[in-house]
Formats: sequence, structure tokens, C-alpha cells
Amino acid sequence: MKILVSRCLLGENCRYKGDNCKNEKVIALGKEHELIGVCPETDGGLCTPRDPAERVGDKVISSAGRDVTEEYRRGAEIALRTAKRENVAYCIFKAKSPSCGCGRIYDGTFSGKLVEGNGVTSELLLKNGFCVKTEETL
Ligand code: SF4
Repeated sequence: MKILVSRCLLGENCRYKGDNCKNEKVIALGKEHELIGVCPETDGGLCTPRDPAERVGDKVISSAGRDVTEEYRRGAEIALRTAKRENVAYCIFKAKSPSCGCGRIYDGTFSGKLVEGNGVTSELLLKNGFCVKTEETL
């Protein structure tokens, strides 16, 4: 079985701070399944490290006020193309991220407050019929 996975969960230092969210439970799935990594933010053209960003309505805005919606959308399209091409069974994405989060994301005020919602990539994958879990809902 093929599973689409956020690369920061696999240990790649692609988070905005330049670190990762390595998750041993996710990595262990690689013994029996093929894990295919994506990082929509860097795949979409953002560099690491970068300013944190949050969803504000239909847009994604960085803490410095830069509109990074286009980069987020581009990364989401790349993840969708990868999911289709590889015919993945489901996705395991990083919780709470403005791109990968699923179910709960930060509210756009950079205050740490969570609201119901999906990251840009999870939203697109869900709309296209893919099942999205996070490391917290596995
Ligand atoms: S875009 Fe997704 S994979 Fe990339 S650092 Fe953010 S949460 Fe991790």
C-alpha cells in the first residue's frame, strides 16, 4: 500500500523553523508500506527557514504580512498530482499546519488559538476524495 506523508513527519528539516516533527509511529509504517513524502510549502516554492504563516479566510498570510497563498496552492496541486499518480491509499499529514493540517488549524491571529478547518493541501486532497489523517488521528 502507498501512503502520502508530510515530509517533516519523516524527519526532513522542512518546517518553517528549519526543524522537523519526526514521528516514529509514522516512520514504522514504512516497514510494510511505501511512504511517499511531500512538503507542500517547500514544494510550492517557499524556502526554509521561513516566516510562519496561517490561513486567513481563503488566503494564507505570513507573520510578516506577506501573502503566500499562491505558493501554498502550488504545493497543494503538486501533492494532489503525486497522490493521483501514485494512487495512494490515504494520507498522513502534520496536524494543525496551514497546509497539511486536517480538522483543526490555527485561527490566523498567530496567538496559538485553534479553530475548525483544514490546511490548503488537506482541503484539496479531501475535495478530490482522498482520506486524510494526521499523526494525531492515526
Ligand atoms: S508543509 Fe506540511 S510537510 Fe511541509 S513542513 Fe509544513 S507541515 Fe511539514
